[in-house]
Amino acid sequence: MTNKKWRPATGRRQNCLTSNSSIAQRIQNVKLSMPPIIFYMDELDRFEPRHDHGWVNCGICPFHQDRNVGSFTVHMDSGAFHCFSCGAAGGDILAFYRLKYGCGFMDALADLEKGVGIWTH
Ligand SMILES: [Zn+2]
Repeated sequence: MTNKKWRPATGRRQNCLTSNSSIAQRIQNVKLSMPPIIFYMDELDRFEPRHDHGWVNCGICPFHQDRNVGSFTVHMDSGAFHCFSCGAAGGDILAFYRLKYGCGFMDALADLEKGVGIWTH
C-alpha cells in the first residue's frame, strides 16, 4: 500500500476546512486532477481497461472474495463502479475510496486531495 503512486505518506492530516474553497469546488478539483483511469490503475488488481470511456470490465472485485474476473466494472468517465456478484456500487472515485477504506466523506476527500498534490508534482 505504501508504494502507491499517489497515496500520501502517513502524517498529520491538515485541516482543509479552513481553505476558502467550497466542498463542491474541492470535489471537482479532485475529479479533474485524478481521472478514474489513473485512480483505478492504483486501486485495482489486474486493471487492464480496453478503452477509456463508458463501462469497462476491471478484473477482480475488491469488495468480496472474487475469483471470477468479469464481475467488477468501472465507468471510465464518471468513476462509478459496480460489482455484479456482491452488489458493491457507487457513483464516483470518492465513493469507491470510502467503501474500500471505510472512511468518511471528508476524510476521503482530504486523502484524495493529498494524492492529487503528489500525483501532479
Ligand atoms: Zn464484488
